[in-house]
Amino acid sequence: MSNVIDCLPASPEQLNPASAPTTIALCVPEIRGNEWRYVKECLDTGWVSSAGSFVTRFEEMVAAYVGTRFAVATVNGTAALHVALLAAGVEPEDEVLVSTLTFIAPANAIRYAGAHPVFVDADLQTWQMDVSRIADFLELQCRYKDRRLTNSSTGRRVRAIMPVHILGHPVDMDPLRAIAEKYELRIIEDATESLGAAYKGRRAGHLGNIACFSFNGNKIITTGGGGMVVTDDEIIANRIRHLTTQAKKDPIEYIHDEVGFNYRLTNIQAAVGCAQMELLDEYVAAKRRIAAAYDRNLDGVPGISALREPNYAFSTFWMYTVLVEPAAAGRDSRELMRTLAASGIQSRPLWQPLHRSKAHSGSYVLGGEIAEKINAKALSLPSSVGLSLDSVDTVSELVRNFQCDLNSSQ
Ligand SMILES: *Cc1c(COP(=O)(O)O)cnc(C)c1O
Repeated sequence: MSNVIDCLPASPEQLNPASAPTTIALCVPEIRGNEWRYVKECLDTGWVSSAGSFVTRFEEMVAAYVGTRFAVATVNGTAALHVALLAAGVEPEDEVLVSTLTFIAPANAIRYAGAHPVFVDADLQTWQMDVSRIADFLELQCRYKDRRLTNSSTGRRVRAIMPVHILGHPVDMDPLRAIAEKYELRIIEDATESLGAAYKGRRAGHLGNIACFSFNGNKIITTGGGGMVVTDDEIIANRIRHLTTQAKKDPIEYIHDEVGFNYRLTNIQAAVGCAQMELLDEYVAAKRRIAAAYDRNLDGVPGISALREPNYAFSTFWMYTVLVEPAAAGRDSRELMRTLAASGIQSRPLWQPLHRSKAHSGSYVLGGEIAEKINAKALSLPSSVGLSLDSVDTVSELVRNFQCDLNSSQ
């Protein structure tokens, strides 16, 4: 595909958008390795539940890949975030700084722990948590006395920071780590969208005290549903293992020393995870190839700009996402979504910024306008690992034509 923009007349479907059957999905699992073989082994041996060799193997594979000493598998990514917060020492009525431009799970997990999210606006370039906002907040709106950091407006203790590496790109971690060190805050990474990404040569998931992954169906690898907590801290790893197995002290006498959770992953799911991990590097390479093809195809298209790999990062481009500048004609990112849907192509806006969510109304927020601006303009394009470059061209063509229609209608 050349960079010359061919302005074709709009097709009838584009003029009268209605969803056609999906021919190109947004992000679907890629199952082409040893999944069947490993799952069959579980079924043949009867090791189907939350104990079994695949659970241990999956944990070891993820720990080795990310570079951490420990990994504990969980039933999903949200559960991983919940127990990670508890193990980090977050207590009821504490505050946790978290990105506002993200899927809702991390904020919900903070609430499960009885704590309160403090939402942090996005950075305009990277769309990730804007670390300078946190620095200003801690310097100007908090008190730090006797090793206790208090939000002056709410009177609550600020305990931890949860950076969310969204869309396969890492947060700018060096300044964040400097702040966390200064105020003795724990860093719990939500790396659920960024397994395989790296920051200055270090993998996402190995950039704070604890990190969480998800293996939901739309993530870069999947176990159907599943999650993982990784850490270098043995005490934290043991605590997470304890909390995820109903806080069982004695397996024979059923003695429990606190209220725990049934958050363990099953051996069947872990079997799928092992097969997926074997191909993770290939999947990352595929995602990056897809992103590069979109970049080439959409370069110079007026009104369209893509989220780029930050210069500090190795990104996985989990979801390739563009900003659509709304034009006078009133055609914006949602209109592009409908146009693509009319041709059977799935696309999706980003999440409602969490400080706008009814679920977390009344929460403290640092800024928020940038996240709202990005949300109004952003659209994620098909990004499945198995997406062919021909399909990338098909999608790109429609995006280019959409802009042409827009320019000609001005
Ligand atoms: C997917 C996701 C999670 C958690 O996912 P589960 O569906 O619970 O496995 C958490 N945070 C973010 C940012 C996510 O995208």
